[in-house]
Amino acid sequence: MTIPTTMRALVYGDKGAPVVEDRPRPQILAPTDAIVQMVKGTICGTDLHILKGDVATCSPGRILGHEGIGLVHATGASVTTFKPGDRVIISCITSCMSCEYCRKGLASHCVDGGWVLGHTIDGTQAEYVRIPHADGSLHHVISGASEAAQVMCSDVLPTGFECGVLSGRVKPGSSVAIVGGGPVGLGVMLTTQLYSPSMLIMITRDQNRLKVAASLGATHCITFGPNAAEEVMALTGGRGVDAVIEAAGVPGTFDLCQEIVAVGGTIANLGVHGCKVDLHLDKLWHKNISITTSLVDTVSTGMLLKLMGSGKINPEALVTHTFRFAKMLDAYSTFGSAAKHEAIKVLIDFES
Ligand SMILES: [Zn+2]
Repeated sequence: MTIPTTMRALVYGDKGAPVVEDRPRPQILAPTDAIVQMVKGTICGTDLHILKGDVATCSPGRILGHEGIGLVHATGASVTTFKPGDRVIISCITSCMSCEYCRKGLASHCVDGGWVLGHTIDGTQAEYVRIPHADGSLHHVISGASEAAQVMCSDVLPTGFECGVLSGRVKPGSSVAIVGGGPVGLGVMLTTQLYSPSMLIMITRDQNRLKVAASLGATHCITFGPNAAEEVMALTGGRGVDAVIEAAGVPGTFDLCQEIVAVGGTIANLGVHGCKVDLHLDKLWHKNISITTSLVDTVSTGMLLKLMGSGKINPEALVTHTFRFAKMLDAYSTFGSAAKHEAIKVLIDFES
């Protein structure tokens, strides 16, 4: 019997298109590494940004992907929390747990990690992936929630919760507006309800996503466009919104956030901005507002998994399509024209 030494992988191609290639299987390079055999994966909007050339730090040839669930295949000598055979959730953020940033809870800026998977090292859209600092970068799969739901704990839910809800300082009774109805915007929609906002407004252009937002708990749905600010002001008696979550990352949506933020409110930016935006300090200087920026530190992942296990949060509605890994390119074309296909998250199944 010969042991296979290669694997199939989805790669950022030279011409900006996703391509499927055979690659050598990853090996343990450091005692803190684990090799994980992928079971379930997904595609992130960030992967599409990479393919468009928006992420200068990611070069063609890279295996994409920073989300998923897998089976631990091998571990380095100093990995203590995980062993071969464990089913694990792969965090989008790699954490050494000991550098200055990790010790401050800012693992997104870990000096030997942060967002590296599918970015500066090969990622999860392959049959096997090497996970550095496995003890700080994996979580055990829990019982009581589907694995499709738990894939949302790799990135979507912790990003929505930490960069949207926590950074936005949502409190019981707050009014909340989410500008942008992508998977992370909907992740904010799910997790902000842990704080019982009095008003929860979704603003997006995609009519299907407005419908999904309504089914997930939005109290008001507004189509993004020239009248959106006026509609929000009418809903709030002219006061505006306490927590405005920017989850789109383009100048027009950031402008809208500035128009609808209430006195004393917060604009929490989680959108990935590819170009500069205007800051209207002439209108905001006296309004006692805050603007936050953040990259997810995944410090909330364990807590979110507990809430999933007890049924308090269920992100399964975000998974709209499932593809076998052999159909990975179809998954990319569906996710790439999400509005046409009414897609939110596409699940990649490596087992079928
Ligand atoms: Zn670190």
